[in-house]
Amino acid sequence: MTWMELSLFLILFALFVYIFLSNHIVRLHKTYLLFHFFMMLWPFGQFAVRTTDYPQFQQIYITISFVGMSLLGFGWFLFTLTLTDRIQGFTGRSLVYLSLPAVLSAVSIIFNPGGGFVTFENYNDEHRFGPLFWIMFVQLLAYGVYSLVLLLRSRHSEILAQERPRIANAVTGILILVGFGLLGTLVNVALAPWLPRIPYLMSLGTVMSGIYFVFAIQRHGMFDIIQFAQQDVFDTISAGIIVLDDQDHVLELNRFFQPQLQLELGKRFDMEHFLASTMNGGGKEEFLSAYRSHLPERAQTEITMQTIGGEAHFALNAAPILVNKKMIGRVITLQDVTELRSLVAETHSKNEALRDRNRALILMQDELFQANRKLEQMAITDSLTGCYNRRYLMLQLEHEVATNIRYGIPFAIFLFDIDLFKKVNDTYGHLVGDEVIRLTAKVVKDALRKTDILARYGGEEFTVYLPHTNREQAEMLANRIRSAVERHEYRIGKQGETIHITISMGMMAVEGQPGQNLDDPKLFLRDLFAKADAALYRAKEDGRNRIVNM
Ligand code: GH3
Ligand code: MG
Ligand code: MG
Repeated sequence: MTWMELSLFLILFALFVYIFLSNHIVRLHKTYLLFHFFMMLWPFGQFAVRTTDYPQFQQIYITISFVGMSLLGFGWFLFTLTLTDRIQGFTGRSLVYLSLPAVLSAVSIIFNPGGGFVTFENYNDEHRFGPLFWIMFVQLLAYGVYSLVLLLRSRHSEILAQERPRIANAVTGILILVGFGLLGTLVNVALAPWLPRIPYLMSLGTVMSGIYFVFAIQRHGMFDIIQFAQQDVFDTISAGIIVLDDQDHVLELNRFFQPQLQLELGKRFDMEHFLASTMNGGGKEEFLSAYRSHLPERAQTEITMQTIGGEAHFALNAAPILVNKKMIGRVITLQDVTELRSLVAETHSKNEALRDRNRALILMQDELFQANRKLEQMAITDSLTGCYNRRYLMLQLEHEVATNIRYGIPFAIFLFDIDLFKKVNDTYGHLVGDEVIRLTAKVVKDALRKTDILARYGGEEFTVYLPHTNREQAEMLANRIRSAVERHEYRIGKQGETIHITISMGMMAVEGQPGQNLDDPKLFLRDLFAKADAALYRAKEDGRNRIVNM
């Protein structure tokens, strides 16, 4: 019998060490281990008391046993507070006050004033339990009942779903202990005179409940660090999470919501009411209809709420929880997207600015292009007459003439000069002279074909390039020009006075042989114009208003 108590003590101690080694220590563990330690004291004392015949030592061991027992209730109470997450609500001082019944009871056992707790001659003789024993009994019962009430109350509300099995286990474990405790008290104390003593009943009770606790701890991960971590993440995550049952009652809720919305566990969550308290753009109706439809789909929208930090934007998400295609609840999340929104807005406005700048750049580019074209035009145009200038014609001819010669394409060159122009200037002034030059260019141009190129050669001298034109056609055209100018009436001055002018022209028609090559087109051109000039000179010599063909 004696060794039975020792082995029970050793079992409890082994469990103690096992729990200690196999788990990470948090407050919950500490309170459990304290409780477990108090449980171990009973079988230890009960063993030790049998190892000696000295009543003084027996008294000490029996005291250890009962001190352990007297503290069991408070140890259990502390464990309950931690398990139900209520311990934060107690200050150190209030916990000291709450421990007083247990501590005073333990003190009363230690001093056993006048044998008020227990008296015996020898341990194996009859025990007489005094009123202090019953005080201990009552305080144990009080702690036990109060803890049970707290545990049972927690089962209904405030406690997250995954903690419920732990609480159920705790209740079962304590019921085992209390059952054995009551049985021991009944058999060994209350009915002691009539019944034989069963010495290890209480020890067996502590071991049974100890084993049960260890089993429950391992099976349901009561001390599972992962679950604590999950809870921690759930509470500290920067998104709001609400879990609703199928009747929209709040089952779980993380800390994110508490300051902003008056949501409570167990209360109904009314999505419509919630949305009404927020500002949101379009999509509210769409969201609500998706939300109400109970389809296995997420509903999503964006809302704006007034928070302590000002206006904030949230992405609101509602997803059903489905089990066997049946909706048993929902998870609603709120994620703060204010920063994202402002970033998007900033990017948008930057984009707008960029687009504006781009538009301005394109406009500028266009203007530049136009200006360039104008410059190009100016570079090849004679400003007075609007026809090409000599430089342009020469560049053009360098290329054209070489091609014409190589392929035997006929072409012609005219060089003409206004007759006696000095007299116009002298008689009517330079401005009229300019006007006459301008009008002459116009008259000539009108008489030419589209493909012919008229250029001002200098002063009142012009040249015409006639591509794909043989001698015959060139002569015809030359005459047409000459007579058009001759016939034209130049109106000058305000009085509408008219004058007539004539031109003299040197003409060169070139009909090359196919396959011929020009070594130096520039030289060829210079020669060509020298000949045309000579022809023009001859036309002047011969009496003006005529064409000389070389
Ligand atoms: P000819 O029949 O021999 O050609 O006699 P002409 O008087 O026309 O003599 P010439 O061709 O040698 O003289 C041309 C004159 O035209 C000389 C110059 O004063 C004048 N002239 C040259 N360029 C311009 C011009 O751009 N505007 C004006 N108004 N006169 C010019
Ligand atoms: Mg001249
Ligand atoms: Mg002249």
